[in-house]
Amino acid sequence: MFGGQNFQNEKAIAVIKIRAKLLHAARRWLDENGYVEVHGPTLVPAVGYWLGHFEVKYFDKKAYLVQGLQPYANVFVAWLGKIYTIAPAFRAERVRTQRHLTEFWRIEVAQQCELDVMIEVQEKLVAHICHSLSKEAVEMLECFDRSVMDLEGVQTPFPKLTYDEAIDLLQRDGFNVSWGQTLDWELEKHLSHRFSQPFFITKFPISIETFFHKSDPEKPELTLSVDLLAPEGYGEIGSGAQRITEKKVLLQKMAEEKINPADQQWYMSFMQRRAFPHSGFMIGLERLIQWICKLKHIEEAVVFPRLSDSVYS
Ligand code: ATP
Repeated sequence: MFGGQNFQNEKAIAVIKIRAKLLHAARRWLDENGYVEVHGPTLVPAVGYWLGHFEVKYFDKKAYLVQGLQPYANVFVAWLGKIYTIAPAFRAERVRTQRHLTEFWRIEVAQQCELDVMIEVQEKLVAHICHSLSKEAVEMLECFDRSVMDLEGVQTPFPKLTYDEAIDLLQRDGFNVSWGQTLDWELEKHLSHRFSQPFFITKFPISIETFFHKSDPEKPELTLSVDLLAPEGYGEIGSGAQRITEKKVLLQKMAEEKINPADQQWYMSFMQRRAFPHSGFMIGLERLIQWICKLKHIEEAVVFPRLSDSVYS
């Protein structure tokens, strides 16, 4: 089926309009707060550090579809200080779930700052989006089970718990979890049911984070990282971190994690000479819409979803 059926659907039209209003609100807030909109390439030369890249035949070479702005953000942030991008990302998610698309959009923000400042930016941006939709998307929200009061009531600062506190809480709630493991979907969902507005989990262990995330100076086994979770059982909608900007520190971290610098030449080539604090985050647009519209499946948050078993709509 090409187009057609879904497109006539009232809910699908409301999703399209909410998406447009959401992006307009995000751009308005970011522009008014001094962020410059930038665009990195969609075809990138190397896989880098994330799993699940789509490989593309690029003449007689290989290229990959992009998953995020790093390492180009290193350059944009060094040159411009505060930047954002709104762009697609691609992940070869083999399993069809309620929250994974193979092509999704991201709102990515990065700037010369410590993680605490970046967390504040993230909560202000998300609160602004919610408040704007509560005024500008009243009619569209009526198509869903979401009351405008829920969005109006989103307040900063968002609740925060550390990864250590999250593990304690899960153990107290009877889950068989141990320190150092990733918070999988079931655990995230449980935590997310405990909150009525978006909240953060901070400081994940080094062992489950990307190599270029900065270590916590007070507890080197932890990273200066953060996930943003939606409440009501929706789970992760964004993630971010403070990034290592000193080449020497990055090489040391890679040696500790037994990563061969030769395998990360692409990333390393975008390291800057000047060291400065650099933090960033990425919010998945369809995950945010899924929560805002209280949708069961992420595929309802986009009109022509791309899923592991569907690319032909
Ligand atoms: P998850 O564990 O929930 O699959 P992740 O930890 O792999 O997500 P990140 O790499 O931190 O996700 O990506 C940042 C954000 O991008 C996520 O918080 C989410 O909003 C969005 N995102 C990531 N993968 C997908 C996907 N396959 N479909 C839709 N959105 C996604």
